[in-house]
Amino acid sequence: MRADEFDYVIAGAGTAGCVLAARLSEDPALRVCLVEAGGPRDRHPFIQVPALVGAAIGNRSLGWGLKTEPQPGLGGRSVPLPRGRVVGGSGSINGMAYFRGQPKDYDDWSAAGNAGWSWAEVLPYFIRSESNADHRGSPWHGQDGPIHVTHISKPNALNAVFLDAFASVGGYRACDDFTGPRPEGYGLRQGTIHRGRRDSSAAAFLRPALSRPNLTLLTGALVTRVLLDGTRATGLEVQVDGALRQLRATRETLLCAGAFQSPQLLMLSGIGDPEELRAHGIDVRHALRGVGRDLHDHPAAPILREMKDTLSYGLSLPTLPRSAWNLAQYLFGRTGPLASNVFESTAFIRSHEGADRPDLQIVFQPARRNPHPFPLPLGHGYAISAVNLYPRSRGRLRLASQDPRALPRIDLNLLGDAEDLKPLLAGIKLGRRLLDAPAFARFKATEIAPGPAVQDDAALEAYIRRTAATVHHPVSSCRMGHDELAVVDDQLRVRGIDALRVVDASVFPSIIGGNTNAPVVMVAEKAADLLRGRPAPPAFTP
Ligand SMILES: Cc1cc2nc3c(=O)[nH]c(=O)nc-3n(C[C@H](O)[C@H](O)[C@H](O)COP(=O)(O)OP(=O)(O)OC[C@H]3O[C@@H](n4cnc5c(N)ncnc54)[C@H](O)[C@@H]3O)c2cc1C
Repeated sequence: MRADEFDYVIAGAGTAGCVLAARLSEDPALRVCLVEAGGPRDRHPFIQVPALVGAAIGNRSLGWGLKTEPQPGLGGRSVPLPRGRVVGGSGSINGMAYFRGQPKDYDDWSAAGNAGWSWAEVLPYFIRSESNADHRGSPWHGQDGPIHVTHISKPNALNAVFLDAFASVGGYRACDDFTGPRPEGYGLRQGTIHRGRRDSSAAAFLRPALSRPNLTLLTGALVTRVLLDGTRATGLEVQVDGALRQLRATRETLLCAGAFQSPQLLMLSGIGDPEELRAHGIDVRHALRGVGRDLHDHPAAPILREMKDTLSYGLSLPTLPRSAWNLAQYLFGRTGPLASNVFESTAFIRSHEGADRPDLQIVFQPARRNPHPFPLPLGHGYAISAVNLYPRSRGRLRLASQDPRALPRIDLNLLGDAEDLKPLLAGIKLGRRLLDAPAFARFKATEIAPGPAVQDDAALEAYIRRTAATVHHPVSSCRMGHDELAVVDDQLRVRGIDALRVVDASVFPSIIGGNTNAPVVMVAEKAADLLRGRPAPPAFTP
């Protein structure tokens, strides 16, 4: 078997892997190899053009085709779990929303004994990675980082209607910076878009680093297991063009395969719950019962309305000339609606009195949601999603087989804890109040879902169980911590194994109150410092 040698070998060129490869290879003395199962095509138009995000998510050639096991909390439904299988990973197909979560999220991580992960300590890493065009001069924002963050320059006019509706229902504050000192309230949100194109960590971090002679990117290469010498990781076994190949790591092996596949790779390598490993005929190399456990994600439920008015984004006969103009604007200037990620305003609010932080996100979509996947919205309307930011339910990822090509079995246990319904119920009720507010009255929209017949709490709860899905933020399947079920320590080292770390969404001790891409970038920025032995930046003081 062919073997190649590097200082660091990284499994997965997703959000975290691209950051890590770029930061490590800044040191010309380090030889870095980044391995990706998917292809190199992150210049695909579905990835590049922000408004085509729906097409990127639905495109089979760019994803893994994962889905949950039947979920008892969803009436036995199985829901799709899109994950990018391409350079950039899920960051190449995500919604480009830029959020960091709530300060208390990270203070909780730190209070659980994870030294170095408090809000004040992680904020410098968020700032380091960011170049924020709209918050110049704010100490909460970076101006020199690789990832460009910006508001949509001309949001659809329905966003103003949504924000007016919020102001009219009373009790909530407007927020002009969801990643500033107080990320709470309603307002326009920012996205990782640069000059009209998606600015993923592949685009922002990896691409500029690829000319470095000390960085190797291997695509179309499926990592099949971690190579172990006793309890020391010595690299990765990968399958390329049907042949197995070994990539030796003289310093460390780094798993960045995401919340579903990093635990899968650990188990395929004999690291996990002995019972689970033996059930698949895998030799136990190191018993670590927490691998694959504690998996969770944000559940969400929608309100969909449609209308004859053509103000929303969407394709229709009367708006064909406008669509042609939009296409021309994009092709010739990278501007116009195609340069928008469609979701342009949102709110982070408390669903009940006594919540110690916003636990409910209201996401506004100024477009009709298609019943069937189609690259662009067909017809006109708008939608709201209510997102439970702190679900209590915990699921588990298991192997389907010892074959590395087999997809893992994923049980998110969505709405397994009945408490998880409460913020969603509050969100659907608030969403209806917003859409029934005078600001929206002139559109005379019709509610498609839940639908006028669904009114009392029992009917709404049944509706939520019938329609809820996730907003694609799985975390904690290789959780950081110090208890028996923790998989990595606060330096992200796999407990009990030398020279092996996990660096991706799977290490979050628990989910954060917002979208997860920027927090994953933060984790990778911090990991790069840990690996390079660089001192942590001074804790943030405003
Ligand atoms: C549809 C969707 C919409 C989202 N919207 C947003 C949003 O708007 N804002 C936001 O902040 N977050 C969003 N997220 C979440 C965010 O994108 C993820 O949290 C983040 O990308 C996770 O990064 P990661 O590095 O942990 O994993 P990933 O980015 O998924 O990277 C894992 C990589 O490992 C590769 N890989 C896996 N197994 C193997 C193997 N065996 N061999 C080789 N390679 C392998 C994968 O192909 C992939 O490239 C969204 C996610 C999705 C899927």
